[in-house]
Amino acid sequence: MNKIKLDACPECDLLLNAATPTVGEKVHCPRCGYLLQRPSKRSVERTLALSIAGLIVIFPANLLPLLGIKVLGNTKDGTLWSGVINLIAENMWPVALLVFLSSILFPFINIILSLLISAHLYFNKPNRFLARWMRWLQHIDEWAMLEVYMLGIIVACVKLSSTSELKFGFGLYAFIALLVITAMLASSLDRYLFWQRIDAVSKQPS
Ligand SMILES: [Zn+2]
Repeated sequence: MNKIKLDACPECDLLLNAATPTVGEKVHCPRCGYLLQRPSKRSVERTLALSIAGLIVIFPANLLPLLGIKVLGNTKDGTLWSGVINLIAENMWPVALLVFLSSILFPFINIILSLLISAHLYFNKPNRFLARWMRWLQHIDEWAMLEVYMLGIIVACVKLSSTSELKFGFGLYAFIALLVITAMLASSLDRYLFWQRIDAVSKQPS
Protein backbone atom coordinates (compact mmCIF):
# COMPACT_ATOMS: atom_id res chain seq x y z
CA MET A 1 0.00 0.00 0.00
CA ASN A 2 1.21 3.46 -0.83
CA LYS A 3 1.40 5.56 2.30
CA ILE A 4 0.59 9.22 1.80
CA LYS A 5 3.03 11.46 3.62
CA LEU A 6 1.78 14.83 4.72
CA ASP A 7 3.60 17.79 6.21
CA ALA A 8 2.01 20.64 8.10
CA CYS A 9 3.16 24.20 7.62
CA PRO A 10 4.45 25.27 11.06
CA GLU A 11 3.27 28.81 10.41
CA CYS A 12 -0.30 28.41 9.16
CA ASP A 13 -0.99 24.66 9.69
CA LEU A 14 -1.81 23.99 6.04
CA LEU A 15 -1.43 20.28 5.24
CA LEU A 16 0.86 19.61 2.32
CA ASN A 17 2.15 16.65 0.41
CA ALA A 18 5.69 15.96 1.54
CA ALA A 19 8.17 17.38 -0.93
CA THR A 20 11.66 16.08 -1.52
CA PRO A 21 13.72 19.03 -2.73
CA THR A 22 17.37 18.68 -3.64
CA VAL A 23 20.21 20.93 -2.49
CA GLY A 24 19.73 24.44 -3.85
CA GLU A 25 15.95 24.19 -4.08
CA LYS A 26 13.55 25.91 -1.73
CA VAL A 27 10.08 24.81 -0.70
CA HIS A 28 7.65 27.51 0.33
CA CYS A 29 4.16 27.12 1.79
CA PRO A 30 1.72 27.96 -1.03
CA ARG A 31 -0.64 29.68 1.40
CA CYS A 32 1.53 31.85 3.63
CA GLY A 33 4.89 31.74 1.89
CA TYR A 34 6.78 30.28 4.88
CA LEU A 35 10.10 28.70 3.91
CA LEU A 36 9.43 25.05 4.68
CA GLN A 37 12.58 23.41 3.42
CA ARG A 38 15.91 24.44 2.06
CA PRO A 39 18.15 21.40 2.11
CA SER A 40 21.69 22.38 2.98
CA LYS A 41 24.71 20.46 1.92
CA ARG A 42 26.25 18.15 4.48
CA SER A 43 24.12 19.50 7.29
CA VAL A 44 24.93 16.64 9.67
CA GLU A 45 28.68 16.85 9.09
CA ARG A 46 28.73 20.63 9.43
CA THR A 47 26.65 20.54 12.60
CA LEU A 48 28.97 17.92 14.08
CA ALA A 49 32.09 19.93 13.24
CA LEU A 50 30.62 23.19 14.51
CA SER A 51 29.40 21.70 17.77
CA ILE A 52 32.87 20.26 18.46
CA ALA A 53 34.36 23.70 17.77
CA GLY A 54 31.75 25.26 20.06
CA LEU A 55 32.60 22.83 22.83
CA ILE A 56 36.25 23.83 22.56
CA VAL A 57 35.67 27.60 22.80
CA ILE A 58 32.85 27.60 25.35
CA PHE A 59 35.22 26.92 28.26
CA PRO A 60 37.65 29.79 27.65
CA ALA A 61 34.66 32.02 26.82
CA ASN A 62 33.17 31.35 30.23
CA LEU A 63 36.25 31.06 32.40
CA LEU A 64 38.86 33.42 30.97
CA PRO A 65 38.70 37.20 31.52
CA LEU A 66 36.51 39.05 29.05
CA LEU A 67 37.67 42.44 30.16
CA GLY A 68 40.37 43.84 32.36
CA ILE A 69 39.64 47.19 33.96
CA LYS A 70 42.38 49.37 35.36
CA VAL A 71 41.13 51.87 37.90
CA LEU A 72 43.58 53.91 39.96
CA GLY A 73 46.36 51.46 39.30
CA ASN A 74 44.32 48.43 40.30
CA THR A 75 43.52 45.91 37.63
CA LYS A 76 40.37 43.86 37.85
CA ASP A 77 39.56 41.01 35.51
CA GLY A 78 36.00 40.12 34.74
CA THR A 79 34.92 36.71 33.50
CA LEU A 80 31.40 35.67 32.59
CA TRP A 81 31.35 33.54 35.75
CA SER A 82 32.58 36.29 38.05
CA GLY A 83 29.93 38.55 36.53
CA VAL A 84 27.23 36.14 37.66
CA ILE A 85 28.85 35.74 41.10
CA ASN A 86 29.07 39.53 41.52
CA LEU A 87 25.42 39.94 40.60
CA ILE A 88 24.49 37.38 43.26
CA ALA A 89 26.73 39.17 45.78
CA GLU A 90 24.87 42.40 45.04
CA ASN A 91 21.59 40.61 45.63
CA MET A 92 20.53 40.92 42.02
CA TRP A 93 19.28 37.37 41.84
CA PRO A 94 16.88 37.62 38.89
CA VAL A 95 19.49 39.30 36.68
CA ALA A 96 22.15 36.81 37.77
CA LEU A 97 19.85 33.93 36.91
CA LEU A 98 18.98 35.43 33.53
CA VAL A 99 22.62 35.99 32.63
CA PHE A 100 23.56 32.51 33.80
CA LEU A 101 20.78 30.82 31.83
CA SER A 102 20.99 32.80 28.61
CA SER A 103 24.75 33.15 28.31
CA ILE A 104 26.17 30.10 30.07
CA LEU A 105 23.73 27.23 30.56
CA PHE A 106 21.53 27.38 27.47
CA PRO A 107 24.37 27.90 24.96
CA PHE A 108 26.13 24.95 26.61
CA ILE A 109 23.06 22.68 26.39
CA ASN A 110 22.52 23.88 22.82
CA ILE A 111 26.03 22.77 21.82
CA ILE A 112 25.84 19.48 23.74
CA LEU A 113 22.50 18.55 22.15
CA SER A 114 23.72 19.49 18.66
CA LEU A 115 26.81 17.36 19.24
CA LEU A 116 24.84 14.37 20.55
CA ILE A 117 22.29 14.42 17.75
CA SER A 118 24.68 15.04 14.87
CA ALA A 119 27.16 12.43 16.18
CA HIS A 120 24.43 9.80 16.37
CA LEU A 121 23.21 10.64 12.88
CA TYR A 122 26.73 10.80 11.47
CA PHE A 123 27.60 7.33 12.79
CA ASN A 124 24.09 6.00 12.07
CA LYS A 125 23.60 4.99 15.67
CA PRO A 126 20.00 4.70 16.86
CA ASN A 127 19.17 6.07 20.27
CA ARG A 128 15.77 6.15 21.88
CA PHE A 129 16.41 9.69 23.13
CA LEU A 130 17.17 11.17 19.69
CA ALA A 131 13.67 12.55 19.08
CA ARG A 132 13.52 13.97 22.61
CA TRP A 133 16.93 15.67 22.26
CA MET A 134 15.83 17.18 18.95
CA ARG A 135 12.67 18.58 20.53
CA TRP A 136 14.68 20.04 23.42
CA LEU A 137 17.16 21.55 20.99
CA GLN A 138 14.38 23.33 19.11
CA HIS A 139 13.16 24.92 22.35
CA ILE A 140 16.52 25.73 23.91
CA ASP A 141 17.47 27.52 20.71
CA GLU A 142 15.05 30.30 21.54
CA TRP A 143 16.61 30.84 24.97
CA ALA A 144 20.30 30.95 24.16
CA MET A 145 20.88 34.67 23.84
CA LEU A 146 24.59 35.31 23.68
CA GLU A 147 23.91 38.35 21.51
CA VAL A 148 22.18 40.11 24.38
CA TYR A 149 25.16 39.59 26.63
CA MET A 150 27.49 40.81 23.88
CA LEU A 151 25.45 44.00 23.68
CA GLY A 152 25.89 44.39 27.44
CA ILE A 153 29.65 44.04 27.07
CA ILE A 154 29.73 46.69 24.36
CA VAL A 155 27.67 49.11 26.46
CA ALA A 156 29.93 48.49 29.47
CA CYS A 157 33.03 49.14 27.33
CA VAL A 158 31.69 52.44 26.04
CA LYS A 159 30.68 53.59 29.51
CA LEU A 160 33.95 52.56 31.15
CA SER A 161 36.31 53.68 28.41
CA SER A 162 36.14 57.32 29.50
CA THR A 163 36.97 56.68 33.15
CA SER A 164 39.31 53.72 33.08
CA GLU A 165 41.75 51.78 31.03
CA LEU A 166 40.27 48.70 29.38
CA LYS A 167 42.08 45.59 28.35
CA PHE A 168 40.39 42.97 26.23
CA GLY A 169 41.00 39.49 27.57
CA PHE A 170 41.38 36.24 25.70
CA GLY A 171 37.95 35.25 26.99
CA LEU A 172 36.37 38.00 24.92
CA TYR A 173 37.85 36.60 21.70
CA ALA A 174 36.65 33.13 22.69
CA PHE A 175 33.24 34.62 23.45
CA ILE A 176 33.07 36.25 20.00
CA ALA A 177 34.14 32.95 18.41
CA LEU A 178 31.39 31.20 20.38
CA LEU A 179 28.88 33.76 19.16
CA VAL A 180 29.88 33.16 15.53
CA ILE A 181 29.90 29.37 15.96
CA THR A 182 26.41 29.25 17.54
CA ALA A 183 25.04 31.48 14.78
CA MET A 184 26.58 29.18 12.15
CA LEU A 185 25.26 26.17 14.04
CA ALA A 186 21.72 27.53 13.90
CA SER A 187 21.96 28.09 10.16
CA SER A 188 23.69 24.80 9.32
CA LEU A 189 21.21 22.63 11.20
CA ASP A 190 18.59 21.59 8.69
CA ARG A 191 15.69 20.70 10.96
CA TYR A 192 13.69 18.96 8.29
CA LEU A 193 16.62 16.78 7.25
CA PHE A 194 17.47 16.05 10.88
CA TRP A 195 13.95 14.88 11.63
CA GLN A 196 14.00 12.69 8.51
CA ARG A 197 17.34 11.20 9.51
CA ILE A 198 16.21 10.64 13.10
CA ASP A 199 13.17 8.84 11.77
CA ALA A 200 15.30 6.69 9.44
CA VAL A 201 17.92 5.88 12.11
CA SER A 202 15.27 4.91 14.66
CA LYS A 203 13.54 2.57 12.22
CA GLN A 204 16.58 0.71 10.98
CA PRO A 205 16.96 -2.83 12.32
CA SER A 206 19.64 -2.89 14.97
ZN1 LIG B 1 1.80 28.18 5.63
